[in-house]
Amino acid sequence: NGNLAAVDPEVAAAVGAELNRQQTTLEMIASENFAPQAVLEAQGSVLTNKYAEGYPGRRYYGGCEHVDVIERLAIERIKELFGASYANVQPHSGAQANAAAMFALLKPGDTIMGLDLAHGGHLTHGMRINFSGKLYNVVPYHVSEDDHRVDMDEVARLARENKPQLIIAGWSAYPRQLDFKRFREIADEVGAKLMVDMAHFAGLVAAGLHPNPVPHAHVVTTTTHKTLGGPRGGVILSSDEEFTKKFNSAVFPGQQGGPLEHVIAGKAVAFKVAAGEEFKDRQRRTVEGAQVLAERLLADDAKAAGVQLVSGGTDVHLVLVDLRDSELDGQQAEDRLHEIGITVNRNAVPNDPRPPMVTSGLRIGTPALATRGFGKAEFTEVADVIAEALKPGFDETTSAKLRARVEALAAKHPLYPNL
Ligand code: PLP
Repeated sequence: NGNLAAVDPEVAAAVGAELNRQQTTLEMIASENFAPQAVLEAQGSVLTNKYAEGYPGRRYYGGCEHVDVIERLAIERIKELFGASYANVQPHSGAQANAAAMFALLKPGDTIMGLDLAHGGHLTHGMRINFSGKLYNVVPYHVSEDDHRVDMDEVARLARENKPQLIIAGWSAYPRQLDFKRFREIADEVGAKLMVDMAHFAGLVAAGLHPNPVPHAHVVTTTTHKTLGGPRGGVILSSDEEFTKKFNSAVFPGQQGGPLEHVIAGKAVAFKVAAGEEFKDRQRRTVEGAQVLAERLLADDAKAAGVQLVSGGTDVHLVLVDLRDSELDGQQAEDRLHEIGITVNRNAVPNDPRPPMVTSGLRIGTPALATRGFGKAEFTEVADVIAEALKPGFDETTSAKLRARVEALAAKHPLYPNL
């Protein structure tokens, strides 16, 4: 009956240290964001105590009248946000949303097509030791060697040759937009279903800055914690009435037991926030920030340091830095940025000669800093700091100078000032 610090000082200390890390460094992991304090509050509420197997109005437990209100709000808000006629807000994560959607549409042994993990796809799109790779026959497609865009001619050819039951369009590390219309035409031609996993770019879609996959796909899945800026979790959307019941039963009881109603409350809050003007402005700054970053990393001094960008730029919230010609590998570059207070993740580039634990690239994203309030001026400064850090001749003096510039930026836009 005490607060966290009293009951468990060790955990409390680590939570406090993590808050301090988030406040004093610059978070540029493309899949991360800062959930609003209202979302944290909803997630940390008494809803965590409640069992609510089933769906609003059809639960297997008593006492669900209040969680029903909350889950209905979440469903209606996200349907409105993306123009979908169906939503399931119960998946515990993006991976579980994908597992449930596939469970509804496929039988074990069916054939699926997804973007190769090494070319920017996600684990759940057919990676060998993921459920998707174990349960289904996977035919990966790729980005083309010359422009690093998804090779739609290859997608069409592989679809005709392999007659997949499902084609997945979506990515975790790809700096461009996908052609959903073409994907659907290919799926229709071979009798496949189309699933779009918009986990990364859902926030951009909600703000009208990216084409909406909902009108094109049989099913759309997403996470709620990346560009969408909500609690960690997943959602399934569809406008295809044929599948609605199947998706519900695939989530519960197919994949999950009791839904996380405290997280669903956080989702409801995040979807309300995402419908507002401030959110749109944030997404505009997110995309603009990625473009500023791309421009700076394409400048002559960066080029001279062996820095290149996969696909030569970006249309979304991230850039993929190609370090194959640099003196740094992905791990060394990640460590160097960490040293000056910028958090990113190393990432394979297409046809990477180095192993996945090392890689030859960096994935750098702008959503979390845009949430912090960064605009063009701040992103220009961050971009310059990153470009300077990746140059040869980096020593302790450079490190200290860059670290000071990072600290100044962090101080200019305080994070969670009331926590
Ligand atoms: N789908 C895509 C495209 C992703 O990038 C991710 C996460 O990185 C997921 C699904 C999985 O989400 P989660 O980590 O919530 O399971």
